[in-house]
Amino acid sequence: LLRGQGLTLDELPIRDELRGEQPYGAPQLDVPVALNVNENPYPPSERVVAEIAAAVADAARTLNRYPDRDAVALRADLASYLTADGGVGLGVDNVWAANGSNEVMQHVLLAFGGPGRTALSFAPTYSMYPEYARDTHTAWVAGRRAEDFSIDRATALAAIEEHRPSVILLASPNNPTGTALPLADIAAILDAAPGMVVVDEAYAEFRRAGTPSALTLLAQYPRLIVTRTMSKAFALAGGRLGYLAAAPAVVDALRIVRLPYHLSAVSQAVARVALANADELLAAVQQLRAERDRTVEWLRAVGLRSAESDANFVLFGTFANRHAVWQGLLERGVLIRETGPDGWLRVSIGTPQEMAAFQAALVEVMR
Ligand code: PMP
Repeated sequence: LLRGQGLTLDELPIRDELRGEQPYGAPQLDVPVALNVNENPYPPSERVVAEIAAAVADAARTLNRYPDRDAVALRADLASYLTADGGVGLGVDNVWAANGSNEVMQHVLLAFGGPGRTALSFAPTYSMYPEYARDTHTAWVAGRRAEDFSIDRATALAAIEEHRPSVILLASPNNPTGTALPLADIAAILDAAPGMVVVDEAYAEFRRAGTPSALTLLAQYPRLIVTRTMSKAFALAGGRLGYLAAAPAVVDALRIVRLPYHLSAVSQAVARVALANADELLAAVQQLRAERDRTVEWLRAVGLRSAESDANFVLFGTFANRHAVWQGLLERGVLIRETGPDGWLRVSIGTPQEMAAFQAALVEVMR
């Protein structure tokens, strides 16, 4: 085996801002009940599996060729889905896709961030945002969310005035808190923003009745970007397909920074099958929303705090020693996420059986 003559990472001429950094990611442990990365617990049905296998076989017949660089057929399918979901007419030119919404947002930072520019968000929020900024040489500023994890409008407007960010990242529903932002607040931020505003709607399909999507603001605000993913509601985390909706000029900017053929023929084919089966895959979303609401009620009934959630996870607490609680659950076969503000933990919503296991384990740990 190549040992690199004992060369260590510290001795490499790595960029200064990467020194001492760890790769992002939750522990990938083999446990009976995995409720740690906000996955959808329901795998595709055998019928959808067979359709995916057939589409992959079809794609395999031309794998000697590069895929469609612009992923036009897939983007058209995504546009139809978003048009139905958001009630705003979107076409191929309004949609961009990449390997997960992480890559989509990296494209946004590559195009609109950069040296001498600032990205702004409001913490606690998705912990990858500062990494997109770091990797694209963009300065990073995190304002604070309010006590109830909403974004105070005056605080946001003051931060925008002070930092003049090229990109504002707003997760709604927010990870790890589950908080959705009122459209009026997003609109106020858009009115004040000097650059692009990204509303990260990775969890949009789980929103409660009456919580609108920011897609409805697109017609009014040409510098708004709404990102989505097939990792959560579509139960396609392993397929790696994220996307966004925006004005055609925004999509043109992203096409400049993407690597050629970034979306493989297999990825495109698999995602199109998933979209064609949206009804079946999204049916489980209704169950997960109900299970989410039951989980919030249960946590409160046992005397814990639980944030309002429009997502497929719940932030709960608070614990003097959250690590001990996390560890106690793990010892009982239940893996959740030690994330969010001090004292809080995050649990993803699983099947009713998985949630029962979580509840039983948590009762034991708290005893
Ligand atoms: N945004 C948020 C708020 C997330 O929580 C996640 C996944 N944890 C992502 C984006 C990225 O997901 P993916 O790359 O799988 O689309």
